[in-house]
Amino acid sequence: MKAQPKASHYVNGRHVEDERGDLLPVIYPATGETIATLHAATDNIIELAIEAARAAQPAWARLKPVERGRILRRAADILRARNDELARLETLDTGKAIQETLVADPASAADALEFFGGAVTAFTGDYVDFGGAFAYTRREPLGVCVGIGAWNYPIQGAGWKSAPALAMGNAMVFKPSENTPLSALALAEIYTEAGLPDGLFNVVQGYGAAGAALASHPVVAKVSLTGSVPTGKKVLALAGSHMKHATMELGGKSPLIVFDDADVENAVGGAMLGNFYSTGQVCSNGTRVFVQDGIYDRFLDSLARRTKAIRIGDPLDPETQMGPLINKAQHDKVNGYVAIGRQEGATLHCGGGIPKLQGFENGFFIEPTIFTGVEDGMRIAREEIFGPVMAVLRFSGEDEVIERANDSEFGLSAGVFTRDLPRAHRVVGELQAGTCWINTYNLAPVEIPFGGAKQSGIGRENSLAALGHYSQLKSVYVETGNVASPY
Ligand code: NAD
Repeated sequence: MKAQPKASHYVNGRHVEDERGDLLPVIYPATGETIATLHAATDNIIELAIEAARAAQPAWARLKPVERGRILRRAADILRARNDELARLETLDTGKAIQETLVADPASAADALEFFGGAVTAFTGDYVDFGGAFAYTRREPLGVCVGIGAWNYPIQGAGWKSAPALAMGNAMVFKPSENTPLSALALAEIYTEAGLPDGLFNVVQGYGAAGAALASHPVVAKVSLTGSVPTGKKVLALAGSHMKHATMELGGKSPLIVFDDADVENAVGGAMLGNFYSTGQVCSNGTRVFVQDGIYDRFLDSLARRTKAIRIGDPLDPETQMGPLINKAQHDKVNGYVAIGRQEGATLHCGGGIPKLQGFENGFFIEPTIFTGVEDGMRIAREEIFGPVMAVLRFSGEDEVIERANDSEFGLSAGVFTRDLPRAHRVVGELQAGTCWINTYNLAPVEIPFGGAKQSGIGRENSLAALGHYSQLKSVYVETGNVASPY
């Protein structure tokens, strides 16, 4: 199986290679085979990309928003037309089941391009009347923006960052995760085909060093990172030392609270979605599942039955529901947490093993895993595992569960399952999280802001809020009478 792109990087509307860069092998996580070999960006490639973006941005910013938006909407149509081919590429890059990538990944990127291509036309400044004098505000682009992606949603991440940046009149240099470099290159080609002028969306590959070089480059006005909290702290410090704008979409250990009166099957479905989708590699996952006493046994019975029925295997088989983890390091890490959970005294209720799959013996597969009897202080209840490992915790009362749910350094997301809607709204009002779901989990449509509270991040992606984060306000005060000067 091969998925070798034309070159490692895409700069100024062209494929570019520099073989002096460190080797960057692309591994298909289901088999462990190398499907492409790329090179990390050298300093030369990074300079070329930043210079291309800097040179192209002013003319782009002078276009009318509706003209910029038209190109984004054309690119969205191309993404949709190539959905199946892009989904396959995303599955090869990530190992995620094709039944997910066909509906979730290129489609979500296309939604972002379509939404921001339209929304930017209505994202205008304000007018303030002073009775004679008046003021207005202008929404101006920032200039050259850098996007740094994670490996769980590669094309979605590239779309979520580039669409609001470009719509607002910025240029972008995007560095995908070193684990998943392929689909951002495909997005770059699509932008060019849709008519985006050269230099406005550039893709450079690389490891953390390439990300750090971009985040500290003096020409760059803004950095948007999706990644872990430790990386976020480093990148925010780099951006801060140059006074750059920054958006940080980071990790989580989100609570999902199931009250006694919840619909059991819906709550189980929500908990499974919020722990096992994308093999558990979702930042907003509700990995601390708090279940109230009265529904606890019924919830666990159904959860175990439905979890054991999950079909693990060949990610390209449309019947497969769960693929492998991204790589060996992540496989080792997740297995390590299963061992830690056992040592800490939690009960392994289901899963925890490595499935035997003919033809996929070298893949990074793991069974969906459920721990019960989990205590708040255990590491499996406090640390982000980023794999299909659910911790079930038991609770009795509303005030108690709110306090326990909020007892985390993270604050990305939270969920509540209950038929008592006044309680649902009361509880989400108390939860420290950027996104809350009532009677569902993990939906992130482009129309609503997405981002974290506490250490889970700063800023928001999606919605009009993202246009705000890719622009700066200029206030213009206009005097229509004489200057009131005491001199
Ligand atoms: P990571 O932090 O290891 O890497 C993220 C990106 O940062 C990669 O492109 C990497 O090359 C780059 N990077 C690493 N060190 C850097 C440095 N010093 N300077 C600049 N760039 C650097 O994260 P990951 O393992 O790719 O992704 C998993 C993490 O991402 C999880 O913690 C997950 O929760 C989080 N995540 C968050 C969201 C969100 O929207 N909040 C979405 C997806 C994933």
